[in-house]
Amino acid sequence: MSYDKKRILVTGGAGFLGSHLCDRLVEQDLEVLCLDNFYTGRRRNVEHLQAKPNFELMRHDVIQPLHVQTDAIYNLACPASPVNYQRDPIQTMKTSVFGALNMLELAKRCNATLLQASTSEVYGDPEVHPQEESYWGHVNPIGIRSCYDEGKRCAETLLFDYRRQNGVEIRVMRIFNTYGPRMDPNDGRVVSNFIMQALKGEPITIYGDGSQTRSFCYVDDLIDGMMRLMNAEDGVTGPINIGNPSEFTILELAEKVLAMIGGSSKLNHMPLPSDDPLQRCPDISKAKSTLGWQPKVSLDEGLERTIHYFRSYV
Ligand code: NAD
Ligand code: UDP
Repeated sequence: MSYDKKRILVTGGAGFLGSHLCDRLVEQDLEVLCLDNFYTGRRRNVEHLQAKPNFELMRHDVIQPLHVQTDAIYNLACPASPVNYQRDPIQTMKTSVFGALNMLELAKRCNATLLQASTSEVYGDPEVHPQEESYWGHVNPIGIRSCYDEGKRCAETLLFDYRRQNGVEIRVMRIFNTYGPRMDPNDGRVVSNFIMQALKGEPITIYGDGSQTRSFCYVDDLIDGMMRLMNAEDGVTGPINIGNPSEFTILELAEKVLAMIGGSSKLNHMPLPSDDPLQRCPDISKAKSTLGWQPKVSLDEGLERTIHYFRSYV
């Protein structure tokens, strides 16, 4: 793998995934500019990097244009949990669309490679299972998840149009549910909710009957895939799925978390939010063949590490 990109911009760098990415880039002695508006990100996620000479934290909103020098851009800025992205759906859409546009303009000016954090949500409530990249998706354009799904789909479109029209070097990564230390315990995602509820002995909130599925990837694996994609040879555009293909029902996840933490939490069924996808599992053949990547950390192992992190919150 060649790490010849020296100045790296990470948008959304103070968030869950962004902060882990910054860790890895700083370790590799690259010049890292971490940019965030702290909408869902937290300074404490990158506090330990502040003293490093090759790390800089900048407050900026990607909705506004940015003028810096950079060789590679990881565009991760966007709230990722349904609770957060639905709080201000117009802001979410602007972040995805204007954010991608502004980062593409920057990439064009600097001749930089742009990696866009896209999502399995572009497949919507999928009718094809597992989801491969050639599937165009089944997305409601006017529902409560649309600000996120359609925003990310539009960002993908912009990347490919900038490539065709301006020759910008692009990478589109479709990220499937990822979990691990530094997830925000209050952002409503299922893994953090279940762990926090079990640790506090509160009821585990199962939305619907819990038969819907998700495939959970541990953060270290995800970041490894992300960096491999960025450093792939020119012309590897994706879209490429990065996720763990081991699929679990939400009920199985709850039972696993309860078995690992113990305690007395009961299961509390609540209404299923509208447009909640029934099943989700990545086909990762392309990541295997193009990037030589596949996840290594099992759900049990990853949950163990995540539970360890969350214990400090209780
Ligand atoms: P996160 O909410 O922890 O991080 C997002 C970061 O972006 C935060 O630090 C937030 O403050 C920042 N941000 C939001 N809007 C911004 C704006 N307008 N300008 C500048 N910064 C802004 O979420 P995450 O899980 O780390 O997700 C990172 C990226 O990966 C997102 O683009 C998300 O859509 C994508 N993704 C994540 C998952 C997952 O399971 N974690 C799955 C699919 C896609
Ligand atoms: N979910 C749940 N209880 C919770 C939080 C989420 O049952 O406390 C369900 C949610 O309805 C969805 C799945 O878990 O089916 C994953 O939700 P999450 O918000 O983590 O991510 P999504 O994949 O929906 O974006």
